[in-house]
Amino acid sequence: MRLTVIGTGYVGAVHAACMADIGHEVLGVDIDAERIAALTSGTPPFYEPGLAEMLMKAVDTGRLRFTTSLIEAAWFGDTHFICVGTPQRPASGAADLRHVEAAVDGLAPYLHDSGYERVLVVGKSTVPVGTADRLTERLHAAAPHADLAWNPEFLREGCAVQDTLRPERIVVGARSEQAEARLRELYAPLLDAGTPFIGTDPATAELVKLASNSFLATKISFINAMAEICDATGADVLTLAEAMGRDSRIGPRFLAPGLGFGGSCLPKDIRAFTARAEEFGLGDSVALLRQVDEINTRQRLRTVDLAERLVGGSFADRSVAVLGAAFKPHSDDVRDSPALAVADEIRRRGARVRVHDPEAVDNARAAHPALQFALDVAKACEQADVVLHLTEWPQYRELDPAALATVVRTPAIVDARNTLDQAAWRSAGWTLRAPGRPRLG
Ligand code: NAD
Repeated sequence: MRLTVIGTGYVGAVHAACMADIGHEVLGVDIDAERIAALTSGTPPFYEPGLAEMLMKAVDTGRLRFTTSLIEAAWFGDTHFICVGTPQRPASGAADLRHVEAAVDGLAPYLHDSGYERVLVVGKSTVPVGTADRLTERLHAAAPHADLAWNPEFLREGCAVQDTLRPERIVVGARSEQAEARLRELYAPLLDAGTPFIGTDPATAELVKLASNSFLATKISFINAMAEICDATGADVLTLAEAMGRDSRIGPRFLAPGLGFGGSCLPKDIRAFTARAEEFGLGDSVALLRQVDEINTRQRLRTVDLAERLVGGSFADRSVAVLGAAFKPHSDDVRDSPALAVADEIRRRGARVRVHDPEAVDNARAAHPALQFALDVAKACEQADVVLHLTEWPQYRELDPAALATVVRTPAIVDARNTLDQAAWRSAGWTLRAPGRPRLG
């Protein structure tokens, strides 16, 4: 099939490469000419495991091309995926739909009769409930022969390629049987491999994405609230989470107590969902999500305070090493990164802060030029009064605490992700603090 992918960011670039990989002819479109030039030469504009190889292969076979022209896209494809960003509006927290509207408005006048009876535009961006119906009216004003469906994206950065090729479900909200059938045909290789397909109306499809992210955020904030209770009572949140997670009705995933969530999705999605519910006069139905957001943001300050106590009550003239800048491991994405929020607050309170990350230093430096960065862990930790472990990259678990103890000024560490071997660090002479864990030394 001939399809286009409009917006080649974390979602679009991966979707385009994977759709070419399963045999479609794909044209990726972006307004960012630099990004398009990089992709055309087979270079991903960000770090995502497995993407570089897949992209290079798809570009080499000629099944994947890129352009900045929506007119070319309209002529090329029968099916057009919209993968542009839906950022948070600063004041209200509501979703800013400018890019989605621009993509539809830019495409619609040039859509021609396709090899299929009707052209299909498919939204993958995360949008407030009701957006697809509104966009359909906009689309029909210029292209009455086009249909619009919603097919929310559930990929996780860090395993986006695998999530796209082996998703846990494909959800399609469509108002016509033909639109749904087209997407079943397009995704046939994934459906044949056993992926469940859930066909529904556009409003339900839009809501599935927001409700899922809200539930995941709630689970994380729930266990972080329990960590606060553990801190006050001397109980151990890791044992609590393990014992809770063994109940099959609860499950262990997303019950990892620590610094909380960040990134370009969960925080903005729960705020956009809350704002949309309030527009319907349903603020009470999502009041829980405000608390989820508050608990989450509070973990950043709790981590800063914990480190400040470890250096004697003030960061003035202290050196602080931060391990991790990406919002999560296996990604170079620093959008709303909890690690960088903590690093920035510590710098604001007077410390010299040196940040290490295996992949995200360039993005972090661009977003936070006032912080210092180091390309290896030992350099970041040189003469540090305290080390903070803020993004759970696997290589940080492999660090040798005895060797690192010889580099720092004071062997003190905050394991804000609760993933280090705490006994090993303590027996190498480190004072270790972690949210929700008893103080053992
Ligand atoms: P992104 O910011 O990485 O990429 C968006 C791309 O769209 C950019 O390259 C931008 O230049 C391009 N763009 C903007 N306006 C355009 C236009 N009019 N025409 C063509 N291109 C345009 O965003 P992302 O992280 O890929 O997210 C995209 C959407 O998918 C968002 O709604 C997000 O909430 C959702 N989503 C993201 C993830 C994730 O993990 N990143 C997962 C699921 C869903």
